[in-house]
Amino acid sequence: MTPKVPITVAAGDGIGPEIMRETLRVLEAAGAALAPEFIHVGEAVYHAGHASGIGPEAWESLRRTRVLLKAPITTPLGGGYKSLNVTLRKTLGLYANVRPCRSLFPAVATRHPLLDVVIIRENEEDLYAGIEHQQTPDVVQCLKLVSRSGCERIVRYAFEYCRRHGRRKLTCMTKDNIMKLTDGLFHRVFEEIGRAYPDIEQEHQIIDIGTARLADTPERYDVVVTMNLYGDIISDVVAQLTGSVGLAGSANIGDHGALFEAIHGSAPDIAGQNVANPSGLLQAAVLMLQHVGQPEVAARIHNAWLCALEDGLHPADIHRPGSSRAKVSTTEFADAVIERL
Ligand code: NAD
Repeated sequence: MTPKVPITVAAGDGIGPEIMRETLRVLEAAGAALAPEFIHVGEAVYHAGHASGIGPEAWESLRRTRVLLKAPITTPLGGGYKSLNVTLRKTLGLYANVRPCRSLFPAVATRHPLLDVVIIRENEEDLYAGIEHQQTPDVVQCLKLVSRSGCERIVRYAFEYCRRHGRRKLTCMTKDNIMKLTDGLFHRVFEEIGRAYPDIEQEHQIIDIGTARLADTPERYDVVVTMNLYGDIISDVVAQLTGSVGLAGSANIGDHGALFEAIHGSAPDIAGQNVANPSGLLQAAVLMLQHVGQPEVAARIHNAWLCALEDGLHPADIHRPGSSRAKVSTTEFADAVIERL
């Protein structure tokens, strides 16, 4: 019997507890050898006085397991709170954010049936580090920090990812026509490191026209490597092009830990209604199973998930009258996946 791998699980806020409950049900039914430790993070923890939305017991579990499966959380608005996601990424050194997005046409309706793009996003630096100051009563400042070592690590990771996954082309996107030092460094490092990968086709695009082309003809892209904030934005764009932001999962990878989550947020507008699509978190769980050395279970879940979608059982976000067979709840969708394992 495969020994159980300890993982830390956080149910999150909004739709988080609903999609986590169903994802764990699928994992158990598929025979994943996991020993989950449950932690609380997010809104309630912020309001209990922890400025980063995470307490000491949760950190202890993370130090033990080094693997976190996390549902989305709601970051409270206003001063005094730090983003839990940014804190986790920086504290655990999760420098690479990998977001695979693939159209599942005709199972899921999309205008881009050939889309198959992986966004690899630098995960610790850039404006997204959230270093902001009130300069004067009139002026606020946000620092954009970019290091050569940070650029080298993510760019090398992206090239190695291409080789490992048989991907042929890597597109780098920056805004180095304007931010010549910061974005310029990222672009320069891409060109330098790229010389060691002649087997991978390489191109650079300015992020604005790159995003426009991604939205228009995503089939011309394979893997995209970009800076933190740009990657956050374009991965939502690309996931939505496949049918819904609710479909994509992501892996946050570091040398000493990994965090797996859906790319979407806590969707408070549909929380508590059992209508959310659990696919993003389920795909994150599939990436987690690959990471902890259980690729057969990962493949079984992925195939069952595809079969449920191909059979036209669609949560509300991807339901289309005519092409879908039935509009299913979060729970019914998980049941459909479990029946097809
Ligand atoms: P969101 O991604 O939560 O929702 C955007 C839209 O997509 C909403 O209409 C929502 O109903 C829909 N949607 C999202 N996921 C869905 C799913 N699985 N099934 C069906 N529909 C889905 O973005 P938002 O509304 O801008 O953010 C809400 C909260 O989430 C904010 O507090 C934000 O800070 C937080 N957030 C957290 C994470 C994270 O924890 N990783 C990521 C992004 C946003």
